[in-house]
Amino acid sequence: MTTDGEMSEKIGTVYLVGAGPGDPGLITLRGYELLQSCDAVVYDDLAAYELVAATPPHVERYYVGKRAGKHSRLQNETSKMLVMLVKRGLNVVRLKGGDPLVFARGGEEATYLKQAGVPYEIIPGVTAMTAVAAGTGIPLTDRRESAWVLMATGHEATSASLPVPWEEIARLKGGTVAIYMGVGRLSVIVEKLIAGGADPDISAAVVVNAYTGAQRIVRANLHKLPEQCIEQKVESPALVIIGNVVDLMEKLSWMTAGTLAGKRILVTRPREEASEICRKLRFHGGEPIPLPTIEIIPEVNRSDWEQVERIFGEKSWIIFTSKSGVTHFFDGLFMRGYDIRALGEFKVAAIGPGTADRLMQFGLKADLMPEISTVAELASKMVKAGDLIGKSGIRVRGNLSDDILEKTMENAGARVCPLTVYRTRTADWEPHWLKVVKESPPDYITFTSGSTVEGFVSIIGKEAAVDIAANSTVVSIGPSTTEVAESFGIKVDVEAVEHTLDGLVEAMVKYVISTTQPA
Ligand code: SAH
Repeated sequence: MTTDGEMSEKIGTVYLVGAGPGDPGLITLRGYELLQSCDAVVYDDLAAYELVAATPPHVERYYVGKRAGKHSRLQNETSKMLVMLVKRGLNVVRLKGGDPLVFARGGEEATYLKQAGVPYEIIPGVTAMTAVAAGTGIPLTDRRESAWVLMATGHEATSASLPVPWEEIARLKGGTVAIYMGVGRLSVIVEKLIAGGADPDISAAVVVNAYTGAQRIVRANLHKLPEQCIEQKVESPALVIIGNVVDLMEKLSWMTAGTLAGKRILVTRPREEASEICRKLRFHGGEPIPLPTIEIIPEVNRSDWEQVERIFGEKSWIIFTSKSGVTHFFDGLFMRGYDIRALGEFKVAAIGPGTADRLMQFGLKADLMPEISTVAELASKMVKAGDLIGKSGIRVRGNLSDDILEKTMENAGARVCPLTVYRTRTADWEPHWLKVVKESPPDYITFTSGSTVEGFVSIIGKEAAVDIAANSTVVSIGPSTTEVAESFGIKVDVEAVEHTLDGLVEAMVKYVISTTQPA
């Protein structure tokens, strides 16, 4: 997609939205709603990608972060891009890490928009400083210790920006200083503060990746802080905080690192099925990267439905082998004017607990479910349940499902109507994500169906896919998925015992514990 399509009569609005400091849960409700209703989103590395990944499929996405190159000219180019997009009549969310008006050049973007006559709105976000406070238990103000807070940038001054008066700040007592982008020049800053009269022994801390599973705190008295940061290899994003309030952390800290802390985890599930697993991974401190390798598109096959309608009311089986199958079946059923009563006489089979759970959401309980979630096991269990002779059955499926089930049941005397309700196709990855995954393979790659593996291989190419997988820990939801992975030469390191998302996350957590425990 290009940004310079046709100009429209109607002009859109730019929403400068604060995404919060990293955890997607910290965006405001207003910001989230705009992401769901906008036409385009322009984002960079500081905003949680999960927020972008969860936008509806029609939303155009433009990455303008560091990997887009040409960093120095970027600001102007980003503003121009925003104007181009609104002139096409699109409502555009410019998603920014933290708050758009705190060290985020939101003011410069707004100035450009104003000059171009483009309407805009600004939606605040949780800034890194308050996320640091909440994540560490360091109050920014405190009636005993701090009567004021000061936010400063530690970024090297350019000719266009004002210098920070460190020596003067050093003379202020009884408050809290928060320094954004300060780690790179920390020793110079600390030197200036101490030269200006700051107490070298005052409490200070550097907080990395605040309010995420990868939060890390380096604590030291002011004069020791730069050395500690080097020793502990502190990386961006990190915030420096100085003041007596830092001591309160001992009593008030509450966040503990999860088992998956700091792990980058590729989630290959289709977009609409990804948020649940991302939440579960975040809960354990992991950093999910939702890059669906497949897309699920609803399919309405009229002749399939006509056949199926003829057996409504009979005592038959209806068989579901995926969550997507359940969702799209009911969409189709409701669209055709039926409701759940159409299935009144049916017995229901589900391939596994995930599919059974989805059925429960529609008010249907699975009567039959195999121990091992494969189509072959399901088919054999159905045959063992007996009484198939002369019966009809409905197999709800996607376009790629194999027909083992249909064949096995037919051999046992049943007549099976296949009902294709969705189609799977390979998803597109934005070029910079392709680069990210190729250049720095994630710690974990999760596959939750054979088709997610196939999608991964077709997006990346077989050789590179095998290579990337060899440099990551590959996690599979169950034996069918593992089989597909191994057919491409992708070695599966962890297979879930229970073939559900919970089972998959649990298997990862156990694996991390078992591999990090001293022998
Ligand atoms: N607009 C953002 C700030 C962008 S400047 C905001 O309001 O938070 C980038 C700096 O923000 C980083 O160098 C770091 O100092 C700080 N920062 C952003 N996210 C952070 C996080 N999760 N933990 C610690 N510091 C963070």
